[in-house]
Amino acid sequence: LPKVPSDIIIAQAQTPKPITDLAVEIGLRPDELESYGKYKAKVELSVLERLAHRKNGKYVVISGITPTPLGEGKSTTTIGLAQALGAHLDRPAFACVRQPSQGPTFGIKGGAAGGGYSQVIPMDEFNLHLTGDIHAVTAANNLLAAALDARIFHEATQTDKALYSRLVPGKKGSRSFAPLMLKRLKKLGITKTNPDDLTTEEIRRFARLDVDPETITWNRVLDVNDRFLRKVTLGRNPTEKGHEREAGFDISVASETMAVLALSNNLTDMRERLGAMVVATSKSGDPITADDIGVGGALAVLMKDAIKPNLMQTLEGTPVFVHAGPFANIAHGNSSILADMVALKLSGIEEGESLERQGYVLTEGGFGADMGMEKFCNIKCRTSGLKPDATVIVATTRALKMHGGAPDVTPGKPLDSSYVKEDLVTLKEGIKNLTRHIENCRKFGVKVIVAVNQFATDTPAELELIREESIKAGADAAVVSNHWAQGGLGAVDLAKAVIKACEQPSNFRYLYDSESSIEDKITTIAREIYRADGIELSEIAQKQIETYTRQGYGHLPICMAKTQYSFSHDPALKGAPTGFTIPIRAVRLSAGAGFLYPLLGDMQTMPGLGTRPGFWEVDLDPTGKVVGLF
Ligand code: ADP
Repeated sequence: LPKVPSDIIIAQAQTPKPITDLAVEIGLRPDELESYGKYKAKVELSVLERLAHRKNGKYVVISGITPTPLGEGKSTTTIGLAQALGAHLDRPAFACVRQPSQGPTFGIKGGAAGGGYSQVIPMDEFNLHLTGDIHAVTAANNLLAAALDARIFHEATQTDKALYSRLVPGKKGSRSFAPLMLKRLKKLGITKTNPDDLTTEEIRRFARLDVDPETITWNRVLDVNDRFLRKVTLGRNPTEKGHEREAGFDISVASETMAVLALSNNLTDMRERLGAMVVATSKSGDPITADDIGVGGALAVLMKDAIKPNLMQTLEGTPVFVHAGPFANIAHGNSSILADMVALKLSGIEEGESLERQGYVLTEGGFGADMGMEKFCNIKCRTSGLKPDATVIVATTRALKMHGGAPDVTPGKPLDSSYVKEDLVTLKEGIKNLTRHIENCRKFGVKVIVAVNQFATDTPAELELIREESIKAGADAAVVSNHWAQGGLGAVDLAKAVIKACEQPSNFRYLYDSESSIEDKITTIAREIYRADGIELSEIAQKQIETYTRQGYGHLPICMAKTQYSFSHDPALKGAPTGFTIPIRAVRLSAGAGFLYPLLGDMQTMPGLGTRPGFWEVDLDPTGKVVGLF
């Protein structure tokens, strides 16, 4: 195979077309586009109404086997496949990917724009601020945090009456409740609408949220790998004396606000979700939401532009939506519902139009199929009501050999020699990981296509073995794809297999009924997807499940917070492990995003920087060009 230059050299060698040109090509109207510079634009959600009558394009989720820390090429395959369909097979094709966090961008090396000749460009803009959505998430999240602490402070320093007269200021007879106050009154069962009519007891109940500080779950966030913010003491200035408390920062993409952005179906839905986010529990055991604090509307205002999907392009000029970037461990790790919806309409067909014109939306589910694909189906699709037609499982000889017993793969360290020479025995053992993912994906009733992401050192016998075993395990197709080295051309066979699979009907189904008990839902995922013997709930987890059930959150789907390096909770258990029980340490609530997340171990919500972070390479050349970004 010819040598492929570095990602940034390839990316910068291509001149992107103006985003306004791309918009015309994909059928957007000028008033539906909001350009951010020359090569990025936001797309107005009004396009969904204009094209509501269209039959959607085909919906394909790109997933993978259990990865090594280097990644197995899901993003690269998503982009390569979009290029193959869009630029070589003349099918409308949209790639939908997550926006990367600046934490990992400057921390560990490794972009999210794809790689080789299958990338999103301009890759520096993709990897950095994009159109500011993550900044908006950060701003909204932190406004809520500030609102909560300020409210606790004022409640602690004022009498009921003083608090009330500040919340509802003005003279007797001329005062009125803010709209969100009426919502709160309704929640409290108080039917009065004139602030002068409340009894002393009602004033107390209305004015005091009575937050139990021990129950605060709302952290501040920043989009930086800043380990020193993992635990902080707030309120150390003399003006807040006596109100100090321990708190922490998470990385912005791990926030519930980000998950809300990704899971909103429209503007009103996002507004409702932001207002429903629970930040703490009152001393009497009731959940306290952003709307209770009066800030839900302001959060929506901060997020009003972020909700519009961002349009970019691949190296071969086909469209890409980059929108939302929730973490794939404690959140659901999928790009936004709205970007998928817009892409499904843009790739859709009019009544009577030939099915040959029906396009494809390729959306990526983070980490292995046990994480990204399971959450895509059970959380994202349940929330949107959309149904996937097929899933692509990306596999590499590298990861399969590791699962078969080859030495661990560590970023920054040279690969062991077993990875660069033919070894069918280790590979065959490791393929058990792939076949389990195939069986799992079939449980969702969708077509399964295995994409063997070809590396230069793979041998024909190795590639053939993966293909054969995949078909034996029930895959509808298994295709070797070389899009990293050849761009879209290298993925034409894969694209043809996807087209063929999507021609047949899919029988999509969820893995569990969301109305079953929280414990049953967790057990179903653990048994059916991880193949555990069962689960073991800690005492805390049991109590939390009782509380959430009592508070009315028991119907929410489950977002397992688990390591991506194993089917199990233990990253050391490679391959296709059996005979283990999944310990559930705790269960947390994301009421606005709409899921419960059981913790299967210590999940890091604020990464740190290593001794030699990626930022050492990054600089500007005298012309203002970014260098050294991957
Ligand atoms: P994932 O989305 O699964 O995490 P990526 O698509 O981001 O993986 O790929 C991870 C890294 O591996 C990227 O730097 C990419 O350039 C590289 N890569 C992907 N496929 C290949 C391949 N076939 N050959 C060589 N490098 C590859």
